[in-house]
Amino acid sequence: MKLDTKMIHAGAHPDPSTGAIMTPIYQTSTYVQEAPGVNKGYEYARSQNPTRAALEEAVAVIENGKFGLVFGSGVAATDAVIKLLNPGDEVIAANDMYGGTYRLFMKVFEKFGFKFIYVDTTDPANVKAAVTANTKLIWLETPTNPLMNITDIKAIAAIAKEAGALLCVDNTFASPYLQNPLDLGADIVMHSATKYLSGHSDVIQGCLVMNDAELRDKLYFIQKSCGAVPGPMDCFLVLRGIKTLAVRMKAHCANGEKIAHWLKANPKVGKVYWPGFTDHPGYAVAREQMRGFGGMISFELKDDSIEEAKRVLSSTKLFSLAESLGGVESLINHPASMTHASIPREKRIKDGLSDSLIRLSVGIEDADDLIEDLAKAIG
Ligand SMILES: *Cc1c(COP(=O)(O)O)cnc(C)c1O
Repeated sequence: MKLDTKMIHAGAHPDPSTGAIMTPIYQTSTYVQEAPGVNKGYEYARSQNPTRAALEEAVAVIENGKFGLVFGSGVAATDAVIKLLNPGDEVIAANDMYGGTYRLFMKVFEKFGFKFIYVDTTDPANVKAAVTANTKLIWLETPTNPLMNITDIKAIAAIAKEAGALLCVDNTFASPYLQNPLDLGADIVMHSATKYLSGHSDVIQGCLVMNDAELRDKLYFIQKSCGAVPGPMDCFLVLRGIKTLAVRMKAHCANGEKIAHWLKANPKVGKVYWPGFTDHPGYAVAREQMRGFGGMISFELKDDSIEEAKRVLSSTKLFSLAESLGGVESLINHPASMTHASIPREKRIKDGLSDSLIRLSVGIEDADDLIEDLAKAIG
């Protein structure tokens, strides 16, 4: 089945009780049993819910995986993966990634005895060099948030396999429409479904997809035991969002390409970070493992003062100043003070995330309107 068809039909079965084409919102906490222990596969909604089950099937299908699990947020999905580990286990993670993932690792989990080692994963040799006998998990993001660095998933999967460690890829930025890490050897794919999967900035949700049944059972046990499950209404919204993922991603990619090139040609703009530029260091790998370059772009201004960045950030009209990404409407964000404020400044600067960096989530409005908005703001 072609990708565009799959996005619409993934997990969609007419409701068995009425034939409703859309999976209903099963707003219930429990299910009546015919006799003690005799039920229809549903006992209590923390463990099972039909709306969630439809979405879990859908996310598995669109990520070319066997099993999906959906959580109350992206970080809750990440939290579940880390709970697979034991004290003393080591995690190798990308040095440039979502600030909330870093915060979860360092401020919540480090004190339980897990060790997190950060390396520049764009060079697989750095990952290989960091492997020890205690390495149990490699955590990747590609493209990264917000510097759009590209890591070769296949190369890291080979290192993980040799180390006997799991590889989990946060695929939020690419979306399953542009990249499928399981096909490249990852063990788990994680998404903040809040972003492109939902696509309409109206829900907080996360998911995991995997192929291994034993791994699925372990993660399901954590999901059920720790309870970070989403409500059925949110599952319905994401199911609906996935139906338009193909058309939205095509529009995000087309607008992203136009705006990235426009920014690059603007004399007031400094470095532009977008993996579709042929001179981007990750271009060859991105072309190999992605089907498009997406709508996320970061850039610096030639005048790299924080004041100038703040002036531009406050001047756009169509690009709303807000955290988050992946919705139909365009957003502009200042990673240093917003999404990545939880990363110490020293570490941020060392990893290339300057105070003046501006991140765009390019929406699906008309590209000319978006460019006009940026042109006025940049001045
Ligand atoms: C937003 C985001 C997360 C966290 O997801 P939430 O749904 O906000 O909990 C994780 N990774 C990336 C890349 C994100 O953009």
